[in-house]
Amino acid sequence: HAKREGRQRCEFYNPSIEDAERRMAAEEQELRQALQRGELELYFQPQYDVETLGLRSVEALIRWNHPERGLLLPGTFMPVAERASMTTDVGEWVLGEAARKIAELERRGTPLQIAVNISPSHLEELSFVSLVRSTLQQTGASSHLLEIEVTEDVAMRDPELVADRLSQLSTMGVSISIDDFGTGYSNLASLIKLPFSKLKIDRSLLDVLESNGEAQILVQTIISMANCLGFHSVAEGVEREEQLQLLSAMGCDFLQGFYLSRPLSWAQLRIALNEQSDRSVNKGFRKAS
Ligand code: C2E
Ligand code: MG
Ligand code: MG
Ligand code: MG
Repeated sequence: HAKREGRQRCEFYNPSIEDAERRMAAEEQELRQALQRGELELYFQPQYDVETLGLRSVEALIRWNHPERGLLLPGTFMPVAERASMTTDVGEWVLGEAARKIAELERRGTPLQIAVNISPSHLEELSFVSLVRSTLQQTGASSHLLEIEVTEDVAMRDPELVADRLSQLSTMGVSISIDDFGTGYSNLASLIKLPFSKLKIDRSLLDVLESNGEAQILVQTIISMANCLGFHSVAEGVEREEQLQLLSAMGCDFLQGFYLSRPLSWAQLRIALNEQSDRSVNKGFRKAS
């Protein structure tokens, strides 16, 4: 009886599939409008030098300043973008916005490298390299201040295509980093052929760092491997002093995480940069200009 009732219930709820489709279409439409209305915003999370704890670069993280729902995280709307094949439109906006900020900081005399996250499907597009080139030209941003983060899985999709895209970007002076390292199915053989400059160790490997000896061995091995291959290593999601100490002892180059700084709005970032340059002046570190 229960089974039959269950089936009936299913049939009864069939119209809700249409509801779900309508809701998805509405969400996609809303995101398209958000892009046009300027509701998307970049936040910037600092990466610090492990030795000096000086701010080295930032990662741009997308937010949606939703008129009713407040500041939304990418996990809530990037799947909508993916589903609606809008990752290219969103990626184009992110690149343009990041390049404008790079150029602005250069003009102010406080150049800073900004990393952007790029979806694999966007990277694979024929026009991706020319988009990056024209974005840099139009904004006046220096290519060496732009960094592109791709997840390790990118190398698994179409290794030759990806190698071609990344080497063209690298020739232009753009830095490339491997994001979320340790969570995907890396093909190490193809990874070493790609022109990466940074390897970002995923937060999930650092979660248990203090309490788990195996995690320590794994993270130490990744850092050593990165060093030997000539990549910088970055730890993502540092939340505690003990992690910072361990990573520092293991020779990790850069740290990113809530313990050091949350992602900052543009206004907050500028304050942080001013404070940092004041500190440098006081210590007599500022270069004569
Ligand atoms: P990701 O590239 O690995 O970015 C790091 C994420 O970890 C960010 O989440 C950041 O806020 C979070 N995080 C940093 N430090 C800590 C920490 O100490 N503890 C914890 N629990 N979390 C920390 P966010 O901003 O929600 O972004 C999530 C993901 O969304 C990103 O992961 C990235 O894959 C994607 N994403 C963000 N911005 C963009 C974008 O502009 N384009 C694309 N295609 N994807 C983006
Ligand atoms: Mg990232
Ligand atoms: Mg990451
Ligand atoms: Mg991650």
